[in-house]
Amino acid sequence: MENNDLISVEEENGVVDVSRSALIFLGTGCSSAVPNAMCLIQPSDPPCHVCFQAMSLPPERSHNYRCNTSLLIDYCQSDGKHHYILIDVGKNFREQVLRWFTYHKIPQVDSIILTHEHADAVLGLDDIRAVQPYSATNDIDPTPVYLAQYAMESISMKFPYLVQKKLKEGQEVRRVAQIDWKIIEEQHDKPFVASGLKFIPLPVMHGEDYISLGFLFGETCRVAYISDVSRFPSSTEYVISKTGAGQLDLLILDTLYKKGSHNTHFCLPQTLDAVKRLCPKRALLIGMTHEFDHDKDNEFLAEWSTREGIPVQLAHDGLKIPIDL
Ligand SMILES: [Zn+2]
Ligand SMILES: [Zn+2]
Repeated sequence: MENNDLISVEEENGVVDVSRSALIFLGTGCSSAVPNAMCLIQPSDPPCHVCFQAMSLPPERSHNYRCNTSLLIDYCQSDGKHHYILIDVGKNFREQVLRWFTYHKIPQVDSIILTHEHADAVLGLDDIRAVQPYSATNDIDPTPVYLAQYAMESISMKFPYLVQKKLKEGQEVRRVAQIDWKIIEEQHDKPFVASGLKFIPLPVMHGEDYISLGFLFGETCRVAYISDVSRFPSSTEYVISKTGAGQLDLLILDTLYKKGSHNTHFCLPQTLDAVKRLCPKRALLIGMTHEFDHDKDNEFLAEWSTREGIPVQLAHDGLKIPIDL
């Protein structure tokens, strides 16, 4: 596979380059995550190889063990200071912290960006208090959370206590996550800055009745992260395609099942079609169900990559990619 100086193709093995930014995949699975619970509590005959293997290996070697999609951007500014930007806080957030914040020595979360308000993107928000400093009176700096207005309205109903500004009369103080909600526009000409890094929203269809956001970031390396998509509007496709606004260095893209199609997500045929159209220098896939067997399917993708001239692989939980942003 072609080497690229700006992105390390080889995964870092516990070696930390403290002067460089990195992308850390905290989750690469579908909403129900992998292993699929039913494969374990009502095993088929023969049993599901992917789910059983996912359970039998330690986390750092268990590439079929997939939590809800989430990316941590370890952004190293020019002064050497690191900022930790989290995209999505799903149902498995606490597990992802225990597995990967410890392994990759992530000390904190400085800001959060939400793609949309589905359960697998936001239901870990309560647990944000677990990575905030302790104060019984909630007297701490709130963590900024960037999200669209529509997501804000939904989260106000899911987590009213995280949105409420003042205590009602007679209400006891209870320790909850302290969040500074920041509304962003669902338009690529309305960028925003989180922890010093500029993000361009990439509105995409996630089912024909719903808009989810992907994000384009990085000046040295242009990276697009799109976790939930069934169709690209042409205006979004232009911003991230080689024949449009310019070639991406890295495309991180949704793929749910191996065959066929799905009403709210890309499956592998649509994902690979999109990779060919957009023509990034490299692509990594996320959002997979237990249909995908990491090592086996990456062999297939390596052949596809050689044939098509674009390196594409499945990402896996815990994968860390040093990158210049
Ligand atoms: Zn399974
Ligand atoms: Zn969704």
